[in-house]
Amino acid sequence: MATSAMLRAFRNSSIFPRIAPTYRSLSTLVLAEHEGGTIKASSISAVEAAKSLGEENSVSVLLAGSCASLKAAADQAALCHPSISEVLVAESDHFTYPLAEPWAKLVHVVQQKGGYSHIIAASGSFGKNIIPRAAALLDVSPVTDVTNIIESNIFVRPIYAGNALCTVRYTGSSPCMLTIRATSFSVPSTSAGSKPTLAPIDRVDLSTFGEDDAVVKSRYIKLSSEETERPDLGNARVVITGGRALKSAENFKMIEKLAEKLGAAVGATRAAVDAGYVPNDLQVGQTGKIVAPELYMAFGVSGAIQHIAGMRDSKVIVAVNKDADASIFQVADYGLVGDLFEVIPELLEKLPEKK
Ligand SMILES: Cc1cc2nc3c(=O)[nH]c(=O)nc-3n(C[C@H](O)[C@H](O)[C@H](O)COP(=O)(O)OP(=O)(O)OC[C@H]3O[C@@H](n4cnc5c(N)ncnc54)[C@H](O)[C@@H]3O)c2cc1C
Repeated sequence: MATSAMLRAFRNSSIFPRIAPTYRSLSTLVLAEHEGGTIKASSISAVEAAKSLGEENSVSVLLAGSCASLKAAADQAALCHPSISEVLVAESDHFTYPLAEPWAKLVHVVQQKGGYSHIIAASGSFGKNIIPRAAALLDVSPVTDVTNIIESNIFVRPIYAGNALCTVRYTGSSPCMLTIRATSFSVPSTSAGSKPTLAPIDRVDLSTFGEDDAVVKSRYIKLSSEETERPDLGNARVVITGGRALKSAENFKMIEKLAEKLGAAVGATRAAVDAGYVPNDLQVGQTGKIVAPELYMAFGVSGAIQHIAGMRDSKVIVAVNKDADASIFQVADYGLVGDLFEVIPELLEKLPEKK
């Protein structure tokens, strides 16, 4: 009796994997983020990820908003990647700000009509906010932080702060929902903006989109962001990062000056953020932003695994640290053992002014 109960429990558990779903027709819904009439680069990477699910995949991009910039974003989406077969636009005051509750409901509504095999968003705060809620409404488990797509249901994702890569097979029911690391799906320049014809733009029918409790659960208060001409940390070609060794917010300005000269974004370690030198949206790492610029320069950064997890995919890593045994040198392409308070002023002096 006890044995048969145990066997039943085992059979229901993941030890006996269910048959993997085979997608007879692949179709993907990409949840896209836009700002000022422009699709975020990370959302275009999500389209690139959708492309790698299979050649015959039909990719629809979902945009939502309520202002004039939505139209501009839709026009850009229709052109931005040759794999996009349709742009869906949901226009309503519910979507003036990208709040998770109305967006999750929107995804549910669109999925019920479209029956997509996959739903993908980039793994930024937008996607991480919406995908779990939408997955709960659709009663599926999302696969998060995907860095490689092997088959339409087999994915690679980092675990243990990026120290190991895990290959997972999605065995749940449709749709298979993913968040992808945008830095792992860079869009080749030939794909970006090279489509000769426009993808059609269709409006989402929101007649069934009632105003229930779930939709009004959260309220937008305000957005606080610093006016800066520096590039966005997540997409910058060059990132200059400072660690706790900078010792104060005042000293951290050296990092900012260097970033200005190089047209770079500023990054920081969690220790520098916790010490109050810079706001936490500049944190790079496991619990901060994941970046993969062409050049990553780290000043006074020890190279803790949680920090490395956010920058190890950078193309060229330069580290300056006064401790020759610092872990950052294990991942650096170029390392300089030296005092940042001497190295940075020298760099600032020798680098030409930005034109
Ligand atoms: C769950 C969890 C999540 C975390 N997430 C993150 C994350 O997302 N991002 C992150 O960064 N950290 C994260 N951390 C913290 C992480 O473990 C480290 O504590 C942190 O990265 C250390 O920051 P640091 O290198 O600036 O400081 P320290 O470890 O204090 O290192 C300072 C370095 O500066 C060098 N130095 C000192 N003075 C000078 C000088 N004058 N010139 C040159 N070099 C100098 C020292 O040799 C040292 O190597 C996380 C930790 C946990 C537990």
